[in-house]
Amino acid sequence: MTTRTRICVAGTVQGVGFRPFVYRHAVALGLVGFVRNDATGVTIDVEGSPGAIAELVRLLTEAPPPLAIVTNITSERLPPTGSAHFTIESSKATALPTVPVSVDTATCEDCLTEMNDASNRRFLYAFINCTNCGPRYTIVRSLPYDRAGTTMSHFVMCVACQLEYDDPDDRRFHAQPNACPACGPKLSWWTNANEVYAQGVTALDAAVHALCNGGIVAIKGVGGYHLAVDAADDTAVRELRRRKARDEKPFAVMVADLRGARDCCHLDDNAVAALESFRRPIVIAPRCDDAAVAPSVAPGLSELGVMLPYSPLHHLLLAAVQRPLVMTSGNHRDEPIAHDDGDATRRLGPIVDGMLTHDRPIHIRCDDSVARVSPSGRLQLLRRSRGYAPEPLALPQRARHPVLALGAELKNTVAVARDGFVVASHHIGDLEHLATYQSFEQAVDHLRRLYDVNPEVVAHDLHPEYLSTKFAMELDLPTLAVQHHHAHIAACMTEHRRTDAVLGLAFDGLGYGPDGTLWGGEFLIADLRGYERVGHLLPVTLPGGAASIREPWRMALVWATKAGMADCLGGQAAGEDQMLVRGVRGLIEQRQGPRTTSVGRLFDAIGVLLGAPRRAGYEAQAAITLEAMARKVPRDSAPTHPETVEVHWRGGLAVVDPSALVATVVRERDRGIAPEVIAAGFHETFGRAVASLAADLAIRSAVDTIALTGGVFQNMRLTEVVQTELHRLGLRVLVHEQVPANDGGISIGQAAIAGAVEQPPTG
Ligand code: ZN
Ligand code: ZN
Ligand code: FE
Repeated sequence: MTTRTRICVAGTVQGVGFRPFVYRHAVALGLVGFVRNDATGVTIDVEGSPGAIAELVRLLTEAPPPLAIVTNITSERLPPTGSAHFTIESSKATALPTVPVSVDTATCEDCLTEMNDASNRRFLYAFINCTNCGPRYTIVRSLPYDRAGTTMSHFVMCVACQLEYDDPDDRRFHAQPNACPACGPKLSWWTNANEVYAQGVTALDAAVHALCNGGIVAIKGVGGYHLAVDAADDTAVRELRRRKARDEKPFAVMVADLRGARDCCHLDDNAVAALESFRRPIVIAPRCDDAAVAPSVAPGLSELGVMLPYSPLHHLLLAAVQRPLVMTSGNHRDEPIAHDDGDATRRLGPIVDGMLTHDRPIHIRCDDSVARVSPSGRLQLLRRSRGYAPEPLALPQRARHPVLALGAELKNTVAVARDGFVVASHHIGDLEHLATYQSFEQAVDHLRRLYDVNPEVVAHDLHPEYLSTKFAMELDLPTLAVQHHHAHIAACMTEHRRTDAVLGLAFDGLGYGPDGTLWGGEFLIADLRGYERVGHLLPVTLPGGAASIREPWRMALVWATKAGMADCLGGQAAGEDQMLVRGVRGLIEQRQGPRTTSVGRLFDAIGVLLGAPRRAGYEAQAAITLEAMARKVPRDSAPTHPETVEVHWRGGLAVVDPSALVATVVRERDRGIAPEVIAAGFHETFGRAVASLAADLAIRSAVDTIALTGGVFQNMRLTEVVQTELHRLGLRVLVHEQVPANDGGISIGQAAIAGAVEQPPTG
């Protein structure tokens, strides 16, 4: 009996070798019909025996190609048409381009083998790729995903490449970025000084020569330009910091292979798996004492970010220089990473000794993703960008209407949601910079078009002054203001596909509260529809507003004053201008300036009290330094001071007052106890107190699950203390893994909340 069935496959199924996969199996099973990409994914019409069709469906479900993510398969019976063959039809543009674009994928083993084979026509070719690897999101201009819709459109394939492209049995069948030295992109090298200009392998040699002699080189990668320098050369790294105007923020290092990574960092199995995955994030791991990496790469930190090469160019470069390279975003200070060639020349030209670039345009900028591995082996994404964006995540509950979510102000990402999924953009950055804001507008437009989302609700942060909020107001669409910490909790719930109420501990830097104060140490009973605040950290003054973030010594003074030890700052405050210190004291005494419940600022304060820099070279530097100190002391050697974190109950609301703990920290410091021990004791004491209160609040509200979210929960030691304590008390704990705990996750939480709203707001 012959039957005909139409199978529709949804998910990340384009640009991942799906059609050749279907072709091979359909032919092997003796089926006829066709497969094609269309706007909803891949459509397969097959005609043959019901058993063979069932087998094909089983293969699609159980053993799809490695890079494919199948989210849904439907099938429908059709009358047989008597096709003679199985064919791959060209893509059909329809009115509904909803196909997820796959992520940029690291060079596969097959391509690497060819690239290193002197007899191969792509020997040493920096743009080798196939259906299993290569650029995707960053080169896609429009859907469906076909060469004409990518930045490869102006490269006309040579006969040899076209034959591969057309051959269903070839690894490059319909590989959109397919290219070779005869027809594809070319490397070029130029220097400002003497206009030396070289192409191809000669260009690579010139860059290698510059890097091996302490030069600073801009390198065009997959999602933007990197600035590269020999990681072992302290003078060169310092010079890079000077030219880039980046004082202390740690740089990531690229190494040639896993052995090189192990020479830099202690890596457990999860770290290795992440490093070697096709997503190739930067992985932050404990640094080896004898790592051949200059101290100026990550000043004052015991961890280091490493990554493996992910483009053919990186492989060629790292093999040639034979040393770790600093590879940091190609930008000046906090500007967005340069990705457009003209812009890169303008912005990076003056700060580099040479540029290794090429003529394959990057359509969407996409920074490297950053992950960190916890002592318990959990991998936590701190930045979800290249290799992850724009991969959809399943929503815990279907969106009732299409949503655009605009994220927060810092570490901005935007997201679109509809039906059962949410797609977050790449990392956009801090919107306060004009260039970043332009990138934000482009990302909104791009995501809306790629996923054909016509939003019926625009979700934005409650903060009236965020640029993303102002952008929302200008869109002339119904808007929904989402409280910042509610969005953090919803992001964590989304990751774990939870819809019922949880107690969220949302600890972060700052977020706007509905009472006009700056929240950041919140205990909220929340689901996707709403939240109730059941506890928070003791509110304190934020003297000078945002200046307290850049100058954490101000927060140290605030908390020391709360602890009745206003004069304890001594050395630290003495380093500041005395007029300024008096001014800040005045602000604190008169309670002038915004009020905040921020746990991030508390950790900043303790960091400064224990010797962290009193002015932050980068966001949360003092808090990060504090965690690094604590992690030098095992948990079971950390002293605890159980009575020093008090809970005051004010009308059913729990207020956490750590003043006595702050006083203990100062006293121990003055007694000469090692800062590492005090830091560990602070984490242990604060973490246990918070967990015990959380358990109490959860039981009162009849919830059994606690979500730990907000940037503070990037602190692995704090997370570990709170999590083990809550487990001991019999509660379930949700922690972030795939969705950043920091503000990079806000757009996902906003989208989940806005999608769950029953009636879209009007006006
Ligand atoms: Zn490949
Ligand atoms: Zn070619
Ligand atoms: Fe936040």
